[in-house]
Amino acid sequence: MAKINAHYRKLSAGYLFPEIGRRIKIFQQDNPGFKVHRLGIGNTTEPLTQAVINGLRKGVDSLAAKETYSGYGDEQGEEELRAGLSRFYKNRGVGIEIDEFFVSDGAKPDAGNIQSIFSTDNRIAFQDPAYPVYVDSNVAAGRSGPYDNKQGNYSGFVYMVCNLENGFIPDPPQERVDLLYLCSPNNPTGAVATHRDLQNFVDYARERNAVIIYDASYSEFISDSALPRSIYEVNGAKECAIEINSFSKFAGFTGVRLGWSIVPRTLVCEDCEPGELHDFWLRRQTTFFNGASNIAQRGGIAVLSDQGLRECAALIDYYMENARVIRESLLKRGLLVYGGVNAPYLWVKAPGNLSSWEFFNKLLDEAHVVGTPGSGFGPSGEGYIRLSAFNHRENIEEAVRSILDNLAL
Ligand SMILES: *Cc1c(COP(=O)(O)O)cnc(C)c1O
Repeated sequence: MAKINAHYRKLSAGYLFPEIGRRIKIFQQDNPGFKVHRLGIGNTTEPLTQAVINGLRKGVDSLAAKETYSGYGDEQGEEELRAGLSRFYKNRGVGIEIDEFFVSDGAKPDAGNIQSIFSTDNRIAFQDPAYPVYVDSNVAAGRSGPYDNKQGNYSGFVYMVCNLENGFIPDPPQERVDLLYLCSPNNPTGAVATHRDLQNFVDYARERNAVIIYDASYSEFISDSALPRSIYEVNGAKECAIEINSFSKFAGFTGVRLGWSIVPRTLVCEDCEPGELHDFWLRRQTTFFNGASNIAQRGGIAVLSDQGLRECAALIDYYMENARVIRESLLKRGLLVYGGVNAPYLWVKAPGNLSSWEFFNKLLDEAHVVGTPGSGFGPSGEGYIRLSAFNHRENIEEAVRSILDNLAL
């Protein structure tokens, strides 16, 4: 008699994007011929750069000849790619050994799977609002109580509120927690943690034998050299933090699929020795995953070449110019706008105490612009909308023109 994993029943309905789609459809039926400007996209839009295309082609070509064909690769990822990553970190003053990198098919799968090497008894803390996979993977693993529809959260979890008062970067919780998920630069708020913010979390974790899971997927969007791009820039982080990153937003690999995680050998928790979490993650990956595509890995190696890094930096500059255009236009229009300086997301306060969905409707009805309601990322996202810089420049310009001309405030 088979039984279902009933924890999946607790997952709150993933209705955010279907509901956005439904409202756009209604708007289009009621307003035929109007162009809808989509500023809610969390997906890259610009083509891969030349160096990367050449790397991917080389990957394909090597599969075409007997002499260069390869099947399954190294368990933790191609050594050349991990050596490139190690150099990449070294150039920013962080020493990570080649065998502390685990190459994967992306940051989302790693962020969802990493909880499986920790006890189901662990108490978990999340930023609120947050990228949904951290919460959902722990719900599916049975670490939460039921979802509270009124509160918009799960019992049993600790929500670290990110609001205007704390600059959208929370302090560590007052109570004891065992695992903490942090994302900086943050999706959805665009806020970036400083060294001091991260040091507070690292100190908290080391005092309590807690572990931080740090999602740095937007690290390359940081242009302010005073801000940390890796948690390992902070003293003590290698004893208490796992870092997850990705080529998705860095190099436009959202469809190519390639990421990495760092599990330092020095990482410890309450009941394990140094090296054990590292070995457990290796065991998990070799058991349930057979490595990232060798073609994608050739692309990743090309990203980390001098030319690749220069080209990808230019790609990020393009998106960040989009962010600047949105930010300045909205500020000029009198809206309160956060983020968008060292992150591709802008966190826009709904005017006049409107809710996220009310502001969504107003933007759509008046300016024909689509954002993403902040309340879809957690209860503390209520009253905000996320706008994204991932788009073609001409679309961004049309959208902000429409906001400036048509949004009534
Ligand atoms: C886009 C995004 C990712 C992406 O993950 P991939 O699986 O590598 O595409 C991870 N974390 C956050 C916070 C993101 O916004």
